[in-house]
Amino acid sequence: NTQDIRVLLLENVNQTGRKIMQDQGYQVEFLKSSLPEDQLIEKIKDVHVIGIRSKTKLTANILRHAKNLIVVGCFCIGTNQVDLSYAASAGIAVFNSPFSNSRSVAELVIAEIIALARQLGDRSNELHRGTWHKVSAGCWEIRGKTLGIVGYGHIGSQLSVMAEAMGMSVIYYDVVPLMGMGTSRQVDSLRQLLEGADFVTCHVPETPETKNMIGSEQFEQMRQGSYLINASRGTVVDIPALINASRTGKIAGAALDVYPNEPAGNGDYFNSGLNSWSDDLRSLKNVILTPHIGGSTEEAQSAIGVEVGNYLVRYVNEGATIGAVNMPEVSLRSMTMDEPNGVRVIYIHRNVPGVLRKVNEILADHNVDKQMTDSRGEVAYLMADISNVNTSEIKDLYQSLEELSSRIRTRVLY
Ligand code: NAD
Repeated sequence: NTQDIRVLLLENVNQTGRKIMQDQGYQVEFLKSSLPEDQLIEKIKDVHVIGIRSKTKLTANILRHAKNLIVVGCFCIGTNQVDLSYAASAGIAVFNSPFSNSRSVAELVIAEIIALARQLGDRSNELHRGTWHKVSAGCWEIRGKTLGIVGYGHIGSQLSVMAEAMGMSVIYYDVVPLMGMGTSRQVDSLRQLLEGADFVTCHVPETPETKNMIGSEQFEQMRQGSYLINASRGTVVDIPALINASRTGKIAGAALDVYPNEPAGNGDYFNSGLNSWSDDLRSLKNVILTPHIGGSTEEAQSAIGVEVGNYLVRYVNEGATIGAVNMPEVSLRSMTMDEPNGVRVIYIHRNVPGVLRKVNEILADHNVDKQMTDSRGEVAYLMADISNVNTSEIKDLYQSLEELSSRIRTRVLY
């Protein structure tokens, strides 16, 4: 019964998410801030759903008290504030919203391409200090120039469309073969991309392979007087190598939105002493520095509310784990649940040999319309749609599954 679902939303998550859950009839408690650990433990005992942003740390110690909790919604991009493997082992799914701000990042990069080509940052800084400094040398139109996109995913491909609309040619490099948007063209190696682009922009995830992916060797391969943009992750660009490439004039400018070891809150991150390279970086000409604001727009925030809100509702009502960061992705399209005597059985269990045989023995007496199962690490997720089950049979099904030693959590939805 949806009215029995209790939801706790912390940290002023976006109203769009709150509304989606209220519209379902869930009991939603909404708080503007995070909670101290003891209060959080008290509250988390009773709720089925919790929504947080980055400040609420859901450690194993806290989650241990969350006896009724079935799902966590991170109304943000990152999920390292949650102990994901503990949550999985306790049958708690965790969702986030990795792609709701793709457009915002792509638009920022478009702005930076023009800003770098026209040295806008420097001109504006000069005039803020009172100096009129009108120059055209080294300033360019972007029409007809080539943009090289490293990582052609959600952001890279959006960017590709906008760049072509402004008359740029687009080439991209990715580890997987991908269909290009418009007339953009995939190249076979990073080197080919660096040699062929006037602007290089990075949109790869943070992985061991992408660490210092743009270092001194790559700056060597770039065109003389080209530009580098990084709004992906701080580990992707080797900052001392960038400083060197800027000083020698190899690159004509750069825009950075992300840095290694970013601070948790606003403050003095870039004042001397905190980072060995920050003074050098601040002194460079035509280098735009922004504090990880690529995805920071009103639109992205409300899109996060909608995306995570919908994930939570689908998980609560239907058990679908598509988009979960710590569970196998399982979903069924079927009408069985809507039939008068149809139910959906969800059995989250430890991924050990022999479980499915026992589960299917329990389900065998019924008419299983559809079934899907998948595993991720030590946790497996089974979903089965069964028709013609009466109330006492539902109880028996639930009880028998609960008694299996592999059980993490059983849900029967109808
Ligand atoms: P995505 O997963 O949609 O795309 C990443 C692409 O990079 C994929 O196509 C993948 O195949 C490719 N890739 C992976 N490893 C590669 C490698 N070694 N070489 C070449 N290509 C590789 O991701 P996305 O949503 O487009 O995000 C891209 C990056 O932007 C991520 O690092 C993300 O964290 C970051 N991001 C930053 C901000 C910000 O505020 N600045 C906001 C959102 C996302």
